[in-house]
Amino acid sequence: MSEAHRGTVGGGPKKVLYTLETLRRIGVGRATKALTSKNACKACAYGMGGQRGGMTNELGEFPSVCNKSVQAQSTDIQPAIPVELFAHHPIGELQELSGREMERLGRLNTPIFKAAGSDHYAPVTWDFAIRHAADKLRETSPARAFFYSSGRSSNEAGFVFQLLARAWGTNNVNNCSYYCHQATSEGLATTIGKATASVELEDLTGADLIFVIGANPSSNHPRFIHMLKACRDRGGKVIVINPAKEPGLVKFAVPKSPVSMLKGGTEIASDYLQPRIGSDIALFKGVAKAVIAAGGADAAFIAAHASGYEAFRADLDALSWDRIVAECGVAQADIERVAGRYAKAQNAVFAWGMGMTHHLHGVANVEAIANLATLRGMIGKRFSGLLPLRGHSNVQGIGTIGVKPVLAAEVYAKMEAAFGVTLPREKGFDTMAGLKSAEAGNIDAAVIMGGNLYEATPDTAFAGRAMGSIGFKLFLTTTLNRGHVHGLGEGEVLILPVTARDEEWSPTTQESMFNYIRLSDGGINRLDNVRPETVILADLATELLPGSKIPFAAFKEHARVREAIAKIVPGLEELADIDVAKREFHVRNRVLHTPSFGTPDGRAHFVVTPIPEPVRAPEGARPLRLATVRSEGQFNTIIYEEADSYRGKAGRWSVFLSQDDLADFGIAEGQKITLASATGRMQDVVVHGFDLPRGSALAYYPEANVLCDTAVDPRSKTPAFKSVPVWIEATAGNRGPM
Ligand code: SF4
Repeated sequence: MSEAHRGTVGGGPKKVLYTLETLRRIGVGRATKALTSKNACKACAYGMGGQRGGMTNELGEFPSVCNKSVQAQSTDIQPAIPVELFAHHPIGELQELSGREMERLGRLNTPIFKAAGSDHYAPVTWDFAIRHAADKLRETSPARAFFYSSGRSSNEAGFVFQLLARAWGTNNVNNCSYYCHQATSEGLATTIGKATASVELEDLTGADLIFVIGANPSSNHPRFIHMLKACRDRGGKVIVINPAKEPGLVKFAVPKSPVSMLKGGTEIASDYLQPRIGSDIALFKGVAKAVIAAGGADAAFIAAHASGYEAFRADLDALSWDRIVAECGVAQADIERVAGRYAKAQNAVFAWGMGMTHHLHGVANVEAIANLATLRGMIGKRFSGLLPLRGHSNVQGIGTIGVKPVLAAEVYAKMEAAFGVTLPREKGFDTMAGLKSAEAGNIDAAVIMGGNLYEATPDTAFAGRAMGSIGFKLFLTTTLNRGHVHGLGEGEVLILPVTARDEEWSPTTQESMFNYIRLSDGGINRLDNVRPETVILADLATELLPGSKIPFAAFKEHARVREAIAKIVPGLEELADIDVAKREFHVRNRVLHTPSFGTPDGRAHFVVTPIPEPVRAPEGARPLRLATVRSEGQFNTIIYEEADSYRGKAGRWSVFLSQDDLADFGIAEGQKITLASATGRMQDVVVHGFDLPRGSALAYYPEANVLCDTAVDPRSKTPAFKSVPVWIEATAGNRGPM
């Protein structure tokens, strides 16, 4: 770890001051109104707010606000972008702005349009926008279009979005989870027959062991850190598994806890294992092997509720400790110590993030975690289970209500029956398949609700080609980002300004990563020319599909959408009257407090997970494994702060290497190098030392996407934003590979 961030502690006074400064910048009164209103937090999927008030979670804890939620509000509270900006500045000039500068332009408050071949956006009326969008979609066929949504939108908007696409005639409907947690959904389906967390928030309060794997919640899910601290306070253990020693997971100063603040931070991790990037399966196998050797397997649970144990055990028996240690780089004694803690735990929760899913073997990583939990009967009882740490605040809900290329047969049937229509059955594109098809010239139109698909996509040159090949792009957004000014090609672009969650004209709902549905009141009036996504989509559907049996016009009222969802989507029946009853709820049949699994035989399944192939580099170069990571001051592709306060104030164009590698390569901190992969290169990227295993590299997402390939995990269709083979191509004094 470099001197600059040695001793860095997560949270603490710095974060309090940052929050204060942000609140002052956006105005304490406006910020407080936004933060205390009855709306779900707009940032991460941990969830807080809703009907208990803006700063309260489902356990009634107050305040549950964090730095990330303040940052998200700071964006929405901004004034409108002056329309003159678009007349005075061609798109080429806007392309020079950084992600943070684009975000700071303000809120979009009028529809804007770029004509074919033009280099300017110009304001247009809503009437023109809706009519033109319908005309452009009509010019092509549904099979030559795709619909993509981020996890920001409401359940109601998501439902109308996918219904519009399907009623028009395509299942090319997908969401941002193909770039984040789709591997979780696939890996949980094969093992426990479910696709989401098996725990609710309350389960964390009784766990005596919490694993945090491939995640950095101190930056990305800040309130989760309080649960980890509470676990430690009651004598429990927190085992962090992460190649990078993240300062906020070692020690965190909890602003709500005077003791924690005065002590300069509380220890979070009881054990911190640092496997090589992408080697987690070998490590998990080592833990399982040691648990079995220590007599810690729950034979009664396995006999009654699991299958596949014999093959799982035989695979472990055939695997030597030498191979395990060689693969993951963690000493056998360390693995056995952690396994010993797990073998003694009464209630364990396994939480993981995109450090597990962003690999070509992401599904197998999740299966290996589920194997470990099943081995000790840690699924299907209170205070124990599986917890994927999801990103955007409604990314889980967007999937639940059908923004995905394939729906369950039961859902199709109910949707058709509810509206008296026949929907297409051809399998739709996942996100990358849609972009590959675009690059091949087979997509004429894209409807993109939220997000920043251009920057989120690996291989930035590919992303530009693919997006640029789409002749008509319709974006729905609250603010502008680099994806609205890059990858535009020669075609037409229409950008429509939408209400933020707390500005919706009628209440909306969101689903947290704990399967908890919140009701957001909306109703705040900040801008005069923005519209709710459902209103825009309903108008577009009415224009595109006149005479449709689906009552799209009625869906401008969210209560009507919820009534439809409640009839069609299993588990969401209570949605029908949530705005009247004001009763938030857990999606039925998700939280597992009894061992009844969703697999065909009702049992949890052990899956044998092969150890992935090692990464390779060109002749003469030493391979490094790269993981793209987020900084403290960013949320997904949104950049709030250029410097990372948890990593020595490093700027966005940085790469982190271990001190051992720096010495071996003869590179000094602060030096600039060229980092290369088979896909692209980062030139003049600034080197920082960090506590990492030898042979590892970290760089920031989305900047480092230039190095990532478009190949996907064949099972989840998720690209590898981690385990990317890279090498040092040149330094100031050395032009050849190192
Ligand atoms: S942890 Fe996530 S949901 Fe909770 S306040 Fe922070 S950003 Fe919002």
